[in-house]
Amino acid sequence: MPITHASATQFSATQANPKKASASVPSASSLFPGQGISDPRKRLSVLLPLPLDGTFDYLTPPGDDFPAGSVVRVPFGRRESVGVVWDNPQLKVGGDETPLPESRLKEIIGPCPVPPLTAVARRFIEWVATYCLAPEGNVLRMALSSAKALEEPSPHVAYELAEGSQNLDLSGKTEAGQAGMSNGIRLTPARRRVLQALQNGPARGLSDLAREAAVSTSVIKGLVDAGLIERRQVVPQAPFRAPDPDWPGPELSADQSKAAADLRQKVVNGGYSVTLLDGVTGSGKTEVYFEAVAAALSQQAQILVLLPEIALSAQWLARFAERFGSNPAVWHSDMTSKQRRLSWRAVAEGKARVVVGARSALFLPYQNLGLIVVDEEQDSSFKQEDGVTYNARDMAIVRARLGGIPTILASATPSLESLTNAAAGRYDRAVLPARYGQAQLPTIDVVDLRLFPPPRREGQKGSAAQSWLSQPLRTAIEKTLAEGEQVLLFLNRRGYAPLTLCRTCGHRLQCPNCTAWLVEHRLASKIQCHHCGYAAPIPNACPECGEAGNMAACGPGVERLSEEVANLYPEARQAVMASDTLSGPMAAAELIRAVQDHEIDLLIGTQIISKGHNFPNLTLVGVIDADLGLSGGDLRAGERTYQLLHQVAGRAGRAERPGRVMLQSYEPDHPVMRAMTSGDRDQFLAQESQARQAQAMPPFGRLAAVILSGPDPAQIDQIAVELARSAPAQEGFTLLGPAPAPLAILRGRHRRRFLLKSRRDLLPQAYLRSWLGRGKWPAQVRVQVDVDPQSFY
Ligand code: ADP
Ligand code: ZN
Repeated sequence: MPITHASATQFSATQANPKKASASVPSASSLFPGQGISDPRKRLSVLLPLPLDGTFDYLTPPGDDFPAGSVVRVPFGRRESVGVVWDNPQLKVGGDETPLPESRLKEIIGPCPVPPLTAVARRFIEWVATYCLAPEGNVLRMALSSAKALEEPSPHVAYELAEGSQNLDLSGKTEAGQAGMSNGIRLTPARRRVLQALQNGPARGLSDLAREAAVSTSVIKGLVDAGLIERRQVVPQAPFRAPDPDWPGPELSADQSKAAADLRQKVVNGGYSVTLLDGVTGSGKTEVYFEAVAAALSQQAQILVLLPEIALSAQWLARFAERFGSNPAVWHSDMTSKQRRLSWRAVAEGKARVVVGARSALFLPYQNLGLIVVDEEQDSSFKQEDGVTYNARDMAIVRARLGGIPTILASATPSLESLTNAAAGRYDRAVLPARYGQAQLPTIDVVDLRLFPPPRREGQKGSAAQSWLSQPLRTAIEKTLAEGEQVLLFLNRRGYAPLTLCRTCGHRLQCPNCTAWLVEHRLASKIQCHHCGYAAPIPNACPECGEAGNMAACGPGVERLSEEVANLYPEARQAVMASDTLSGPMAAAELIRAVQDHEIDLLIGTQIISKGHNFPNLTLVGVIDADLGLSGGDLRAGERTYQLLHQVAGRAGRAERPGRVMLQSYEPDHPVMRAMTSGDRDQFLAQESQARQAQAMPPFGRLAAVILSGPDPAQIDQIAVELARSAPAQEGFTLLGPAPAPLAILRGRHRRRFLLKSRRDLLPQAYLRSWLGRGKWPAQVRVQVDVDPQSFY
């Protein structure tokens, strides 16, 4: 029984199981009784992208065969599904069930017009399912992530230059050009733009072309009538030119060359390896792993680069294009369905040579993957928290091992997991100890907020008088702005204020569905739950006592900080960057460009600005609340806070001018703050490491979380108690809980947590299967398993 998804049980209960259903398609032998003996039909196992464990048996149509990995269409219940021909006899629905007789099997409808999934891809899907305790079908669904890509691409109408228009002079430099005439046809500027667009690119659809040339569609139709362009039926192609590995790269420093040569050699040698590329911020890690990408390109292999926050990676893409003369294929959740279809097919057909993507790009149908790079390997966004809970960094290493290929984990602040693996010799290490060129690492100071509390705002009362910038930070901001340099203020809190309360009765605005305060978003004029998305207008009167006009905002978010900045530095051009203030990747790219071109003096942002960006003129980073991540009982709170602060600090002084970082803190003696100011990362991590080792916590032990949730608290408490009682006692395993989750109610569901702790040499999967696999619980109760949990809420 699948234990991660209640829906799986519901699903199989309501859908006809093809193994049990009688075949609606008459078998060939019943139609042609004489042919039974030589009936060339084969029984094949097919894995379906549905929340189900194991495969289903089908028959091939007479005379047909489909090799393992083929993507096919099959009848399923009363519907049709796609599926993949599977070749692992261990994988069966119900396991011990005797196979259905052939006469009751349904027939495969036909193949989908895409290349088969490779054997490595198939083994990878099984591996992830087993490790994460997810139904294989759910993992397959992540691989078949564009339904449209599995269909025959339908030709569409596109426009291209008519013969003879190819060499039209559109420059306006010659006489014909100046007259704007071509064979007596008048070339208006709009018409000229269309022709120019087509001279520089492939045939395009009407609306794409009109948008690109900034003309109305009637202009294009006019050009067709004039015979200058033609309509044609074309099959859409993804615009992926192969990146050129021989395009000249930058000249590398001695350290960079050494690391790059090492990585290139690993690619040339082939075979599984993991290299931790450990280099300070600005040391040129990207340039160095680009050399490995170039080597893999020369070997005709496909390359995957996983990035956190891919939607914000405009700068990375520009650097890639500069290095290789063309764009990579991009993969993330913000893509249109058309983009997904084109990219998926291009990867499957091996035409997309380099893919840069978010975690889900790991499951694309590579034909010939030869290198995986995980940039910012410590980033928590590589962990998927719902559906199949997997860590893309860890699964990338599994994928590399199955495929026998090298992996590079790049970071300025590697995770304790990766550092421990490197120390134990399981990973190799390449180190870049200094910033590239003249750039120096910034100086880092802590501002003790106990000594320098932010001054109250004059002429204001109550919470309106509060401020968040201490005097030392203000002085530094003023100096930086006066010198014509840029400032970044970092506050990892979206919205205006994290909490709103009534000054009359003390009532706090809480989410009706979750154990969480509602966050005021003044720009959007609403209060919002950051966990479930619940939103309501900002109330003027207290919903509890009814007193009007006495609601107070508590604590700062980026919007409130922005208000203070506008008040203190009205001349400074400021911008706020948070995931909810940007309307999408385009808006993010535009804002980053504006900062880069110094159209912004002061940038305020949450953690989305902490990574990767290069702002040469940015010399001051102020961290408003450096203690923010330290509270709460999270295992990795210290490590995470250090990584985040280090990343943010790394934005300062990346070019000639030296950078300065100021951390506002109430705990200047905290080991994290000490590590930041002393710059002694390794000593800090050694301490962290010792503490974890003492408690046998990851990476020295293993954890798996089990989260029980349901609408009725009494019901889940009872189930939790029963589960605790039925847990097997086994040497090397400790079960903690049940306890109410810190987020005790989420989306109206009450939550209880168990934490299974085990020795590092023991894998928790078998324990979890034997413990939870037998359980049966009501449909509304969900039991989620999270192996190697990253979050503990
Ligand atoms: P990291 O990823 O380690 O933070 P980057 O790869 O972003 O570092 O490099 C930091 C800056 O230095 C970038 O602007 C990059 O273009 C520049 N840089 C790094 N190495 C070189 C090099 N060998 N030649 C020219 N510029 C370089
Ligand atoms: Zn909520």
